[in-house]
Amino acid sequence: MEIFHPAEILSRDEIAAVQTRRLARVVKRAARSPFYKAKLDEMGVDPESITSLDDLTRLPLTTKDDLRASYPFGMLADEHRELVRLHASSGTTGAPTVVYHTEKDLRTWADLMARCMHMAGMRKEDVFQNIAGYGLFTGGLGIHYGAERLGCLTIPAGAGNTARQIKLLRDFNVSAVHIIPSYALYLAGVVAEQGLDPRDLPPRIALIGAEPHSEEARRRIEEMLGLKAYNSYGLSEMNGPGVAFECEHQNGMHLWEDSYIAEILDPQTQEPVAEGEVGELVMTTLTREAMPLLRYRTRDLTRFLPGECACGRLHRRIDRITGRADDMLIIKGVNIYPMQIEKILLAVPEVAQNYQIVLEREGYIDQIKVRVEIKEEFFIEDMRVLGGIQKRIAGLLRNELLVTPRVELVEAKSLPTSEGKASRVVDLRETKD
Ligand code: AMP
Ligand code: ZN
Repeated sequence: MEIFHPAEILSRDEIAAVQTRRLARVVKRAARSPFYKAKLDEMGVDPESITSLDDLTRLPLTTKDDLRASYPFGMLADEHRELVRLHASSGTTGAPTVVYHTEKDLRTWADLMARCMHMAGMRKEDVFQNIAGYGLFTGGLGIHYGAERLGCLTIPAGAGNTARQIKLLRDFNVSAVHIIPSYALYLAGVVAEQGLDPRDLPPRIALIGAEPHSEEARRRIEEMLGLKAYNSYGLSEMNGPGVAFECEHQNGMHLWEDSYIAEILDPQTQEPVAEGEVGELVMTTLTREAMPLLRYRTRDLTRFLPGECACGRLHRRIDRITGRADDMLIIKGVNIYPMQIEKILLAVPEVAQNYQIVLEREGYIDQIKVRVEIKEEFFIEDMRVLGGIQKRIAGLLRNELLVTPRVELVEAKSLPTSEGKASRVVDLRETKD
């Protein structure tokens, strides 16, 4: 196995030793921030008393609301003059939260990111195009510095302007890209619409992440664009991308345990779930100086995958994110995650790249409607054929969800697209007393 960083091949014992040492250090550092100082005092935890991994459960959990409440500086563990950058979460679910970095933090992050890219098969010789918003979003600069650290010729393409993206891919013979999955599907559709085969585009590797996507979406991206797509997971609170990443085996994401301690807890009780069960991913930063976070509740739902990966790396793997704890829809008493719907839709050959989930209320009853784009060649069929497709999709969804959604077929490229993270649920329910 070729590695980028020696930490990739630590043994389980070595990982535990690194975690123990770094946990003790990070708690002391966190205690320098007004927020954690108060929190640890209140809980009666002496930072000096953290000496083993078992001490983790004595530490407070941290939530997004805590971050918001201590906006803008309450969680800083470092002097202002040591800070060199800040990032903020994209705020898909409310007010943004800010994370600060020292110069060393940025180096550590770039190293982690480069490690991920290398693990997915990228090398110094690759020409890399970063199709992501540059700005507060960490997928811009975070990925960018990782690619440069690896030594790739890096094109900061930014988001949007599809025609220019395609031109850059071709002109510079780009071999690897970072792209948000919904935008990858959109871009492939645009090329196909021009009567060209998206498989003829040069890239051989795509790093896809930043938003939940199903295995079916990955397969589509791989088939349409003729490349290998690797799942990339991260969140700005944990730096951004570079937290967990797929290796060449594409069977779950190795979470870098020398840099993060990960727990999977029941979102209701905050107790650990049974081995291999799905729960909320909770993480502690082990290396960040400017703004350490202890036991941060990501609200992302996943599980640890059992067994060892064939690649030989012993950092545990997490399953693809099935949704966020706050993504869950409750329709007619049934819990539904948007990813369940995507998984079904994108496995239907007639379905084009985009869909939308609309929640409506009739009287006191919530209804779910799924609007699905149908590929052009099928949309021109007669009503009978379309009616058949609609029934088939409704049946598949009913089997998966246990409620029957309304299915509306719409023309390809008629639903809204986004240059950043897709927002696919439209809630038209008004609260009635
Ligand atoms: P932000 O910090 O604004 O970039 O948002 C981070 C959030 O994006 C995470 O907490 C996840 O909910 C989501 N996310 C990032 N990467 C992935 C991924 N590979 N799969 C699913 N969700 C992801
Ligand atoms: Zn592996």
